Amino acid sequence: MKNTTLLKIANDFGSPVYVYDAEKIEFQYKRLTKAFSKVKQLRLNYAVKALSNISILKLFNKLGSSIDTVSIQEVQLGLKAGFKPENIIFTPNGVSLDEIEKAAKLGVQINIDNLSILEQFGTKHPKVPVCIRINPHVMAGGNTNISVGHIDSKFGISIHQIPLLLRIIKNTKMNINGIHMHTGSDILDIDVFLYASEILFETAKHFKNLDFIDFGSGFKVPYKAGDIETNIEELGEKLSKRFNEFCKEYGKELTLAFEPGKFLVSEAGVFLANVNAVKQTTSTVFAQIDTGFNHLIRPMLYGSQHDIVNISNPKGRERFYSVVGYICETDTFANNRRIAEINEGDILCFKNAGAYCFSMASNYNSRYKPAEVLLYKGKAQLIRKREVFEDILHNQIEIAL
Ligand SMILES: *Cc1c(COP(=O)(O)O)cnc(C)c1O
Repeated sequence: MKNTTLLKIANDFGSPVYVYDAEKIEFQYKRLTKAFSKVKQLRLNYAVKALSNISILKLFNKLGSSIDTVSIQEVQLGLKAGFKPENIIFTPNGVSLDEIEKAAKLGVQINIDNLSILEQFGTKHPKVPVCIRINPHVMAGGNTNISVGHIDSKFGISIHQIPLLLRIIKNTKMNINGIHMHTGSDILDIDVFLYASEILFETAKHFKNLDFIDFGSGFKVPYKAGDIETNIEELGEKLSKRFNEFCKEYGKELTLAFEPGKFLVSEAGVFLANVNAVKQTTSTVFAQIDTGFNHLIRPMLYGSQHDIVNISNPKGRERFYSVVGYICETDTFANNRRIAEINEGDILCFKNAGAYCFSMASNYNSRYKPAEVLLYKGKAQLIRKREVFEDILHNQIEIAL
C-alpha cells in the first residue's frame, strides 16, 4: 500500500485506523495453496482469531478458504459470514462440554483437546465425528509464550496418553475422523516441523476412519529487516511428498489441512496513528501517538517488534525516538528506534498489523476502539466504524445511589 493511499485513508477516516490490503491476503492464500499443489486434497482453515472482522471472513470465503474457530462466537461469526458448517472447524481449548455440544449442533467439525471432555462427548454423542488434538511435545520456535507443543503446554492430548485415548474411543465407539496438532507460533525450522509431522503420522495409524490430518500453523512472517521467515515453498515440497507417501501407506486419500492466521493476514495490515506531541526529556525524544496498548498490545505482551515508518516525512533525516502511547501505563511501542524525523501531526505507520492487533484491542482508559478499513480492488472501504461514546456506556447499568 502506497504512502499516499495510506495518508489519504488517515485523512478520510481519521486516526488511529487499521488498514488491510485484500490483494496481499489473496497473494498469501494463493502462495500457500501453490506450495501444496502436489497434495490432492488441501484444506486451508484461516484462523479467525488473528483478524475476525466479518468482511475479512467474507473475503476468505470468496477465496475458497475454510476457517478455524476457537470459540462458539467465532463459529457464529463464520456462519454469519456465509461459511457452510462443514467448512468450519472448532478447535477450542479449556471450554465446557456445553460449548462443544452447541458447536456440534451447528454442524461444524469438532476438535477435542482433552481426554475428560472427549470421554463425556463420546459417551453422549458417539455418532458425531470428532477430530483430536494431539500434543507431539515438539517445541517449534523457542519462545515459551508462543510455543504450545512442549511438555508443560496446556494444549492437546499428550502422545504419551495414546493408550488411554484408544481405550476411551473403544469404550464409547466414537468416530475419530481427523487428527490435529498445532505446535505453536513461529516455525523457524522446517525439520522440527517435519519431525512433529512424523509423530502425527505414527498416531494416525491407530485410527481407521480418518478423513484429514491437520498440521496446525505457526508459520513465521518477517517483522523486521533480516528476520527469518518460514520457507513455505520448501515445507510444501517436503511435507507434500511425505504426506502423499503416507496416504498410500494408509490406503486412503486424506485431506491435508492447515490453519494459518498470521501467515495470511499479518503483512496485509498496517496501523496508522497520529503524533500528538514530540516530547524531549533529558535522555530521550518521545513521539507520543494517539493510541496505546489498548489498540496494539503485541509489543508489550510479546515483545514483538513492528516496523514503524513516518509516512508523512518518509525521506526525512533519521533520528532516534521512543514511540509511546497515550495510556496511563508504560505503553512503549519502540525504544530508541531510528525513524525519519517526526513532527507533531505526522502519521506513523506500524507494519505487520494484520494479525493479533485489532482482535486484541480493548477499551482500556475508556478509549474508543479504532476504525478498520479494507483496501479492496483499489477502493478504501470502512469495515468497522470507530467507536463513539455510547459504545463505552453500552451494557453498563447506572443504578440508583
Ligand atoms: C492461533 C491458532 C492458529 C493460528 O496460528 P498462527 O500462528 O497465527 O498461524 C492455528 N491453530 C490454532 C488451534 C490456533 O489456536
